[in-house]
Formats: sequence, C-alpha cells, structure tokens
Amino acid sequence: MHRRLIVPSVLAASFLLAIPASAATYSPGAPGIGDPYYPASGNGGYDVSHYDLRLKYQPKTDLLEGTATILATTKQDLSRFNLDFGLKVSEIRVNGKKAAFTTSGTQELEITPAAALPKGSAVTVVVRYAGKPSELEINGFTAWHRTPDGGVAAQEPDSAVWWFPSNDHPLDKATYDVSVQVPNGTQAISNGVLQGTRPVGSDWTRYSWRSNKPQASYLATLAVGKFDITTDKTATGLPVLNAYSKDLGDNAGAARASIERTGEVAEWLEEVFGPYPFNALGGYVPNVPSGYALETQTRPFYSPRQFANGSNVSVVVHELAHQWYGDSVSVDGWKDIWVNEGFARYSQWLWSEREGEGTAQELADYVYASHPADDEFWTVKPGDPGPENQFHLAVYDRGALALQALRNEIGDESFFKILKGWPSEHAYGNAKVGDFVKYAERVSGKPLAALFDTWLYQAAKPGSPAARSAEVAPSGADVARPKSWKKIAATNSVHDH
Ligand SMILES: [Zn+2]
Repeated sequence: MHRRLIVPSVLAASFLLAIPASAATYSPGAPGIGDPYYPASGNGGYDVSHYDLRLKYQPKTDLLEGTATILATTKQDLSRFNLDFGLKVSEIRVNGKKAAFTTSGTQELEITPAAALPKGSAVTVVVRYAGKPSELEINGFTAWHRTPDGGVAAQEPDSAVWWFPSNDHPLDKATYDVSVQVPNGTQAISNGVLQGTRPVGSDWTRYSWRSNKPQASYLATLAVGKFDITTDKTATGLPVLNAYSKDLGDNAGAARASIERTGEVAEWLEEVFGPYPFNALGGYVPNVPSGYALETQTRPFYSPRQFANGSNVSVVVHELAHQWYGDSVSVDGWKDIWVNEGFARYSQWLWSEREGEGTAQELADYVYASHPADDEFWTVKPGDPGPENQFHLAVYDRGALALQALRNEIGDESFFKILKGWPSEHAYGNAKVGDFVKYAERVSGKPLAALFDTWLYQAAKPGSPAARSAEVAPSGADVARPKSWKKIAATNSVHDH
C-alpha cells in the first residue's frame, strides 16, 4: 500500500520538473474519436491529411511489410496519441525522432513522442511494420481475404487495421499514395490513378497508386493477386481501370459484362447526382469466397458471387452511387449510415425506372407490401439503427422508402434538385442524417421533420406507403413484383459479414 502511493507521486514530480510549466496542459489523445457505435474507432487529438504507404507483399506467405508515413496536425496539446493498427510494429518515429510505443485494447497503438506536441503543429509519423494480415483476428473477425494468389483488404466499417496504421474513422479523411511491391506476374490494385509500375530487381514489380481527394480509411483498399486488367477513359477523360481475377471461372463473363459498364453508369449518375467527385473510376473482382460488394473509393470491390446468376448492373449502380453518397459525402458517425445506404439503394430504384423494369414507386409499393406490420423489419430505425443493425435490410429498403416518401411529398423538381445539390453542398466532407433533413427543408421550402421522423425514426410500420398518401395502402397479395427486384435484392449481401 505504502509503496503504491509513493512511487507514482515521485514519478509524477520528476515528470513535471522535466518539462516547461506551460506543458501542464499536455494530455494523451483519446483512444477513440467519439463514435458511440464503435468506441475504439479513430482517435482524438489530431487530424491526418495524408497517408503514404510503401508496402511489400509476398502472396506465397501472406507477409506484408510496410512503412507508413502519416502527415497530421495536432488539435490539442498532446503528450501522446494513438493510431488504430493490428500488425506488429518495429519502429515509430515522430518528426524524425524515435518514439516510444505500446499496444492496448483490440487495435490501439499508443505512441509517446520524444517531445510533447503543441496544438496546431504539423506532425510526421513514420511507422515500420510487418505481419501476416490473415493471422490478425479482432473479436473473432478478420477483414482480410486470403485468396489462392494473394490477399484483399475491403470491409466496412473496419479494414485499415489489417494493413496500415490510421485514424480509423470516416471523420478523419485524407489523401493516399499507396505503393506496393509484388512478385512479377502478380498485380497490386488500390484506389485512384495507377501512376506507374516499375521493376524492382529482376523478380519484383512496384505498383504506385494515388487517390488525391479526401478518402475515409475504410474506403482505402488493397488487392494483390493475378488479375486481367482493362483500361479506358470516360467521355470526360477520367481513367477507368477494372481488374478481374484470372480465377473467376463461370462468373468471369457476367462480372465483366457488369463492371465494364462502369463508365456508362457513372455518366448517368452524373445526370442525377452532379459531377463525379474523384480522379478515377473502375472496379475489381478478386477470387474471394465472400458475397458482398463495397464502395471502396474510385474502385469498388465486388465478390464473384454477385455475378453467379448472370450480369448485375444494379450492383454497379449501387457501388458507384456511393461515390457521391458515402465516399465524397461521408457519415459523420456510423449512426448516419442511411446517408449512404438509403441513397445507394434508391439509385438502384432510379436505374430500374430508367431501364423500364419497374418505377421507384412500384418498388416502394412492393417493399411496403412485402413486410407486414408485425415484421421485425419495421422495428429497425434507419436514422439510428444501432451498431447491431447498421447493415440491416431496413437501412436499405426502408431507407429508400423514406426517399420515395420525400419525393411524393415535395415533387420531382425539388426532389431531384436535392439529390444533385447535396453532394456538392458537403463534397469531401461528413454529414449527419439531421443535416440532410434541414437541407431538404431548405431546398423544398417545406417542413419535413414529421415525414422523416415517420420513415427514419419510428419503430413501427408507417400508416401509408411511401407516399401515395392519398391512396389506399396496397396489401401484399396485389402488388406485382417489379422486374428489377431480383437483381436489386441480389445486392443485399452487400455487407454480409
Ligand atoms: Zn451500400
């Protein structure tokens, strides 16, 4: 008892003597960014502007070696700070000097720089690391796909922890340069523009990618494997790069027949959502056994199984819609997931309408009629579903119903003005569900709080279908299933982990 009281106070006294009096305000950055859904996600005390990831990956062994150089600015006087990371770190330098570090919790890397960092200062953090991502499990879960010819990082809400240290939350976006050395005959795919490849010795090749607009950490992706790569340019000159595992078997044709339409789909989405926000386009299909797709920035990830029943352009529409709704305008907290998924699902309804396979209203009526009042579906509140229901079907389908209700309430002119205006209003930023409600009220000039409360925040089936407020609610039996339904529903394994 005696020793435990004395020793810390002696240490504390010598610590205080060693630094200037003004440094009394210095404190550790928080181990989380403050998201109640995922308390360990992200960190407090600084903001990252850029990640430079210089990696080497050996597909045979799954060994990933890396040097991450992170540029950040402090937001408080920091005695130490955290990064989120799971692989083994060998050295960390802060502003060129070796820093002390330790690990804690499931994914925290606690870094104590040689000198405390004053608020508002530019900080360069260099982290050297190595490990086998497939050996890292957090709460029994891995975001890393090990494939026969390599590995893939693509998961939501977390994947960065498996391959680079970061402030792992959408609130802290940054630009990325990702450079990966892989054995000859193998390719490395990531976000943005492929700036070049060059040989390293006689056996290796380095791929260098740049994503030059703010990007959330979960939207950064890495895929190493043997791919067939197609390249093109859009009508406006943006580079398109798609990559298909050489190993897709019977799904290869359908995957290509869907993803090669990326440029066409993006052109249509520009009419609906405004200018495409990024420097490149594309998609990739690695030989993973999973079933979902993910809107990794500029280059969505698609599982081969998305194409098991033939081509599916609807899933391409969904992931590309996210480039505006989710990637450029990102969630403020994970509770705001409707700002991503409600709109990505609704874009599939609009595509169906355009293709003559069922109007958005018909799809809304079908969804409404498919779920009786006692269906658990209606207990999920898309506006704040809780972490356990973050990717529940209701976030998608009830979320899209909310938009159909809005459309019917304010009319097509205001509705499409909002769909196009919102991505530029919050371009490259973050937004809450409440921000959208206010924006829709401002543009339409109508009070909409009650409508959104009904469709996004009540744990009950609303009294009338999205929207045909003046008409009788259709019942399950007499609502025809729109032609597009199956392809849209096939996207529902989007987040099946
Ligand atoms: Zn989605």
